Amino acid sequence: MSFPQMKNRCSLLFTIAIMLSACNQNSITGRRQLTLFPENLLQQQSLTQYQSFLKQNRVVPLSGSKDAEMVNRVGRRIAGAISNYYEKKKIKSDFSNYKWEFNLVENKEINAWCMPGGKVVVYSGLLPIAQNEASLAVVLGHEITHAIALHGNERLSQAAVAQGLQIAGDFFTQDSERANALFNNVFGPTAAVGVLLPNSRKQEHEADEFGLIFAAMAGYDPREAIGFWKRMSAAGGTKPPEFLATHPSDENRIKALQSHMNEAMTYYEASKRN
Ligand SMILES: [Zn+2]
Repeated sequence: MSFPQMKNRCSLLFTIAIMLSACNQNSITGRRQLTLFPENLLQQQSLTQYQSFLKQNRVVPLSGSKDAEMVNRVGRRIAGAISNYYEKKKIKSDFSNYKWEFNLVENKEINAWCMPGGKVVVYSGLLPIAQNEASLAVVLGHEITHAIALHGNERLSQAAVAQGLQIAGDFFTQDSERANALFNNVFGPTAAVGVLLPNSRKQEHEADEFGLIFAAMAGYDPREAIGFWKRMSAAGGTKPPEFLATHPSDENRIKALQSHMNEAMTYYEASKRN
């Protein structure tokens, strides 16, 4: 499929029509969102970036490191919980082709992310703020929700439309410089573009809500989320970390988390009976 350039009004209308038809209902959140890019294309692009990131950062080896083991254990339990959730709700999986990897990297930044395709990275700088395994589960639940709810695709689509870019199947090879810049802005480890786009607040809310549920289903106390986000807020200081810039921890966030706590606690109690 090839998208027309906005040369005249006709093509503008056509573009709007395409955008409307490209709005898909998300299988997990139920919200309609603009997702113009084939997920396999994003996963390929993510994999390249992930591999080069791992080359530039020291990955803490799994054997002999309790922290790296914890990251891996929490990640696998969250991924398992998500599979259970999809099964229970009879949702068609958007992530059946994910090849999960959970890495801890030695990096002082307070950060963590999950790329489309299931590549998850936790920075060692996050662990002193997380302080416990349940808080780490809340963060990973949140980050993984961004990926499986196709938030990156949505942000990339919005950014591409805002820039009037022509989007085709060979988008990443045809205009590779612009395409890569766009991709890095949205998916890169220092991506901050989400905070500027209108849907970012909605996306944050969704990631919080489902992240809390997945952590609870994985057997982690969801109430730890409140303390974690308060510690994040306190860690801000005068020069807030990138993660905090895209994840402002304010009263609204805490209130929204609390509004989902009863539901999350039901899942947590059920997880103890399994
Ligand atoms: Zn987020």
